[in-house]
Amino acid sequence: MNIVDGLVEAIKVAETRLPKWVYEKLLEAYDKSEGRGKAQLAAVLKNVEIAAKESKPMCQDTGLLVFHVKLGVNFPMKPWEIEEAIREAARRATEEVPIRPNTMDPITGKNPGDNTGKGVPIVHLEIVPGDELVVSVRPKGGGSEYPTKLCMIPPSRGLKGVEECLLKAVIEAGGKPCPPGIISVAFGGTVERAFELAKENLYRAERHEERRIAELEEQFLAEVNELGIGPMGLGGGPTMLDLKVDYLYRHPASYPVAVTFNCWAAREATILFDKNGNWKIVSENVNENDLKTPELKAEEGIEIKLPVDEDAVRRLKVGDVVYLTGTIVTARDEAHKKMIEEGPPMDLKGLAIYHCGPVVRKRDGEWEVVAAGPTTSARMNALQADVLRKTGARLVIGKGGMSDELLKFFKDFGAAYLAFPGGAALLAAKAIKKVKTVYWLEELGVPEAVWVFEVERFGPLIVAMDAHGNSLYKEVMDSAKVKAEELLRK
Ligand code: SF4
Repeated sequence: MNIVDGLVEAIKVAETRLPKWVYEKLLEAYDKSEGRGKAQLAAVLKNVEIAAKESKPMCQDTGLLVFHVKLGVNFPMKPWEIEEAIREAARRATEEVPIRPNTMDPITGKNPGDNTGKGVPIVHLEIVPGDELVVSVRPKGGGSEYPTKLCMIPPSRGLKGVEECLLKAVIEAGGKPCPPGIISVAFGGTVERAFELAKENLYRAERHEERRIAELEEQFLAEVNELGIGPMGLGGGPTMLDLKVDYLYRHPASYPVAVTFNCWAAREATILFDKNGNWKIVSENVNENDLKTPELKAEEGIEIKLPVDEDAVRRLKVGDVVYLTGTIVTARDEAHKKMIEEGPPMDLKGLAIYHCGPVVRKRDGEWEVVAAGPTTSARMNALQADVLRKTGARLVIGKGGMSDELLKFFKDFGAAYLAFPGGAALLAAKAIKKVKTVYWLEELGVPEAVWVFEVERFGPLIVAMDAHGNSLYKEVMDSAKVKAEELLRK
C-alpha cells in the first residue's frame, strides 16, 4: 500500500494552513492589542493569509517533522513500513512543498538536505484497536523549542512552585518563541512523561476536562498575560494565545514541572487512511473562506539605503520604524562562527546582517526565495559583537532581541538591532527582489549558509535596540519581572 502521497499532502497542509482554533485565537489577540503589538499581529495575520492562498510554508522555519501515529491493529501495514513511508514523505516534501532542509548532525553540523537523519523524522507510535491509520503531523520550529524549561521543585512548594516555574519560563522566553503562542505546563510523573504530556497538550484546542485544572489554565493564562511581554516581546498585547495545564501522580520525593511552548505558527494537520489506503485530511485547518485579515497599514518609516554610514545608524532611536533597500546578508550560528574564525566571505561594511535561514528553491537555474523570516537572535548573543567588529556591518535584523550586554557595544561601535515580525516569512520574501549569491552553501547547508539578498523596502522593521544604550526588550522585561514578583507574593 502506498501512503506516501497522503503523508506529503498532510505535511503540506500542516506547513501552509494554520489550525482553525489557533487562527481564531490570533484574531482575538489582534482585537485585544494596540500600537506595536497590533502592528506585529497584523503582519502575522497577513502572512497566514498569503500562506493559505499561495500554498507556501507560513514560516521559513518549517520545523523538525514530528509525526504522531495511531496504527489500528488490523491496518495492513507494519510499524516499520509506516516509518519508512514517513521518511520517504519527508524527503519528497522537502522538494515538493518545499520545506527547509532542517536536520543536521549535532557534532559535525552536516545537513543531509532532505529532513532525515538519525532519529528524525520523529515518530511517536501508538497501536490502537481497529483497521485505520491516523497520522498527525506537527512541524516544530526551533524558536519555540529553545525556551523549554524543566524545574525540579521542592515537593513542599506544590502549586506555588509550578506557578513560579511557569512565570520564570515565560520571562526567560521573552520574544524568542514568536509570541503570542501556546504554552503548556505539566507536573508530576517522571521528567519524560511530564514533557510528553505537556507537548501533547499544546495541540488540545479545548479546556481541560477536570474543572479544577481548567480553572488553573484560566488563572495561569491571565497571569502570563499580565506580564505584558506581548507580541514578539515588544509589548502592546497578549503574550500567550492559550495555556494548557495537566498533571500526573508523582513520587513523594520528586515534583517535575515541564514547560513547553508553541509559537503562533502552532502547526498541525491530521490525515486518516482506511484499510484500502484511501485517505482524507480530518483536521480543521484554515482555508481561504476563513480568512479575516485586517488591513495592513503601510506604516510611514525611515528609508535607509544600504550600505549605511555610522552617523545614520546613530540617529536611529528605539521605536523608529525603518525600511531597508540594498543588500542584506543572512548569517546564523554557524556563519557567525565561521566569519569570526576565517573572516567574512565578502565586504559587509555598512550592510545589514539578517538572522535568517530561508526556504529557497532553484527555478531555471536561479535561486528563488520562498520564505525568509527572522530566526531567534539570542543564539548569536555571544558572537555578534565580534562579527560586527570584523565585518563592519552596522545593522542586525532578527527577532526576539539580543542580550543587554550588547547595548554597550552597539553604543561604542555605532550599531542597531532591528526587529522583523517573527515568522512573517512570506511578507519578508516579498521584499527580496533577488538572490545575488550564496556563500558556504555546500559546507553549511541551506539554513546556515550566507545568502546575499537584494531587497527593496524591506520592513517594517522596528528599531528595538539602538546605539544610545536603549532596548525595547529591556523596558518590557524589567516591568514583566516586577509584575511576576507581585504575582508570586500573592
Ligand atoms: S513562528 Fe517564530 S518560533 Fe515559530 S517556527 Fe517560525 S520563526 Fe520559529
